[in-house]
Amino acid sequence: MRGSGPPPTVAKFGGASLEEPERVVGYVRALREGGDGLVLVVSAREGVTDLLQGALARPRSAAEHRRVYLELARRHPELSVAGQRQLERTGRLLRDLESDGAPDGPRSDRLLSQGERLAVHWVAGRLAAAGIPATPVEADHLGLITDNAYGASCLLLDRSRTAVRRGLGRLLARGEVPVVTGYFGRSLEGRVATLGRGGSDYAATGIAALLGARRVELVKRNVAVFSADPREVPSARPLPELSYEEAEELAQFGARVLHPLTIEPARAHGIRLKVRSLDDPTVSTTIGPGDPRRRNRAITLLRPLRMFRLRVPGGRQRPGVVAEVSERLARSQVNVVQLFTSSALLCLVVEPNGAKRLVTALRPMTTDDAAVLDGPHQVALVTVIGDRVLDDLDRLPSEAVRGAQGFSATPRALSLAVPEAHGRSVVGALHRALVERREA
Ligand code: ASP
Ligand code: MG
Repeated sequence: MRGSGPPPTVAKFGGASLEEPERVVGYVRALREGGDGLVLVVSAREGVTDLLQGALARPRSAAEHRRVYLELARRHPELSVAGQRQLERTGRLLRDLESDGAPDGPRSDRLLSQGERLAVHWVAGRLAAAGIPATPVEADHLGLITDNAYGASCLLLDRSRTAVRRGLGRLLARGEVPVVTGYFGRSLEGRVATLGRGGSDYAATGIAALLGARRVELVKRNVAVFSADPREVPSARPLPELSYEEAEELAQFGARVLHPLTIEPARAHGIRLKVRSLDDPTVSTTIGPGDPRRRNRAITLLRPLRMFRLRVPGGRQRPGVVAEVSERLARSQVNVVQLFTSSALLCLVVEPNGAKRLVTALRPMTTDDAAVLDGPHQVALVTVIGDRVLDDLDRLPSEAVRGAQGFSATPRALSLAVPEAHGRSVVGALHRALVERREA
């Protein structure tokens, strides 16, 4: 950072990795040996965000809240005085639920953010006990600004830059390790806004971009980026290097290793991301610029999903028809997972819980415009990801393509909608043809 030496490294610890505090301390010590500054971004401890979500789901249940509170106290032992105050504040927020009932978006996010607040106090305490000077930092107080989309907000980096650089720069200049909450920031309205589940990865790359960091380590437990989900495909292999674009597609298409927005700040600022496993330091995936000599293929599976086919008279040639469908779905908060189109047909793939809303949202088109909607069809979405994936079109095995209900492709992602029951075998066939046979 300007005036204060080389840019720091940012390391993010996921909730599961915090279950092994001694290893976290060892890891931090090793990272500090390089001599450059270090900023930690921390998730809530494993299961804590789920506990808080459980409390939100039963806003009137004093017994549930008591249980959650005791569990949080048990999971965060030996807190400092400031940490204790955070725990008491969590208790008050839980009690407020009982009197006020189901909370709105900002109030839900306020409670959900407590997991990370407790975690930074707890982690900073463990580091300090090991002789590493560490300071807990809450991202909303720091000035990490988001939009107002509570529960799924986006970071506004330009508005955050001055405050975040100043706040963290001051700590780094003193040789401290700032331990910053992941998962949330402060909205434009000045309230707490979470970035969506798993959002600490995204907070880490956002903060790294603000600090001019060159390197981010995402430390997870028992996680690596594989050519397929090893539970579905036992012969899946780790992918040691990915391009930003490949990683972005992988996150979008359901390899639940990274929050989907994580890559963008890294790509825009040329930051190298390293996904590491706390258990096995030899397993890692580096994410950076693409390399034409490399050939990665990863196969992902999303299911269960529902597909609808909309046939519009005049087809896609009718001006505005795609916009009309999108607007109707957006207004009803139906998230379209995938879209396949031909001239007369629009095939929409949605989550099962969006199927009813889709039918209601598009009904006016089927009555007024004589469009025909058919579905839901139970499908799985199988996607092959890799730079220049279209080079593999002639290698797609017929057993994978037969029976497909839709197909779409860009130079990096090729998706097939297949009957749900075939999802797994299609993934296996594609993995054999595009990953295993290629290497044989
Ligand atoms: N604690 C949040 C969650 O469980 C954020 C994160 O883990 O990245 O979703
Ligand atoms: Mg978590």
